[in-house]
Amino acid sequence: MSWKNAAVGLLGLIVAASPNFAAPDRLEYIEPHMGTLFRIVLYPPDPAIAKVAARAAFDRIAALNRIMSDYDPTSELMRLCAQAPGTPVPVSAELFDILQRSQEVAGKTQGAFDVTLGPVIRLWRETRRTHALPSEATRADALQASGFNQLRLDPVGRTVTLLRPHMALDLGGIAKGYAAEAALAVLAHYGIPSAMVAASGDLALGDPPPGKKGWQIELNPFGSTLDKPLTLVVAHAGVSTSGDTEQFVALGGIRYSHIVDPATGLGLTRPTAVTVVAPHATLADALATACSVLAPAAVQQLADNSVESVRVIVHQRNADGSTQSISFGHAPAGLISTP
Ligand code: ADP
Ligand code: MG
Repeated sequence: MSWKNAAVGLLGLIVAASPNFAAPDRLEYIEPHMGTLFRIVLYPPDPAIAKVAARAAFDRIAALNRIMSDYDPTSELMRLCAQAPGTPVPVSAELFDILQRSQEVAGKTQGAFDVTLGPVIRLWRETRRTHALPSEATRADALQASGFNQLRLDPVGRTVTLLRPHMALDLGGIAKGYAAEAALAVLAHYGIPSAMVAASGDLALGDPPPGKKGWQIELNPFGSTLDKPLTLVVAHAGVSTSGDTEQFVALGGIRYSHIVDPATGLGLTRPTAVTVVAPHATLADALATACSVLAPAAVQQLADNSVESVRVIVHQRNADGSTQSISFGHAPAGLISTP
């Protein structure tokens, strides 16, 4: 090797090792919010900004929780529910937005996803705590106080009107996806588009990690040891899984999920879990809950006819512990590997 070539080679090495040219490092931050752990994974072009950006993203999630929590009696949502029925109540832009997006999914799923199921969900939470099924009369009363067509949204005055007495809203099936999506937007605002925000089963995915086509997501909703997890490669999308493995109650040998069926007011008993890949995490979260309620034929119809491209994967647990998955709908642009 000539001196000249050696010098060029050395220069090449120095350039490759210089921080300006190296691929960004993977950084991870975790904080508890909304009754779960939120995990942020990011590849910041400038590592100095990462901590500040993650702090801002977590602060946004905490602010959304103060608006949307149904555990905190002082949240904006709970204050709205405390108003006399029939009163138009002015609300924040965020609360209006999530309610509007909830109502869209309620309309598309004939109320399989319905945030006005608050009274039914509360009753069901009590069952999970006491292990005593609610009487038919109490269930009927709770269902009577629900119904997405009894919730009025006025975009002009940005007001919300609860039309039924004892109505209560519950955003548990959509708020984590909404918060993950909002946190991802904060990271992008700080100049970090290559990021992921995960709230247990609800993921918001931005640009892929450097040099990769997408984020590799492993799905094993039943924690099965018999089957290999299903792997998705996804970017610029929301991925949500609703399943019964963590939050269920067993009564009289029947396993009930924390997702309630609006037809009965009881927790679901089907041994399925659903993963939805959608253009945004809010839609993915709400649809994963809805598709857990809907029968497979209705899921297929919903996924195939959806205006937004959505891929719905229904996972089935068999009696022998093995699992199988069937997919419906159209893969959104960010879903690179299509199961
Ligand atoms: P996870 O909380 O495990 O991510 P989901 O996104 O499916 O699961 O949300 C479940 C929560 O959604 C319940 O705890 C309850 O607060 C609420 N919920 C239950 N059933 C329904 C329903 N049919 N429509 C809308 N929200 C529901
Ligand atoms: Mg959900």
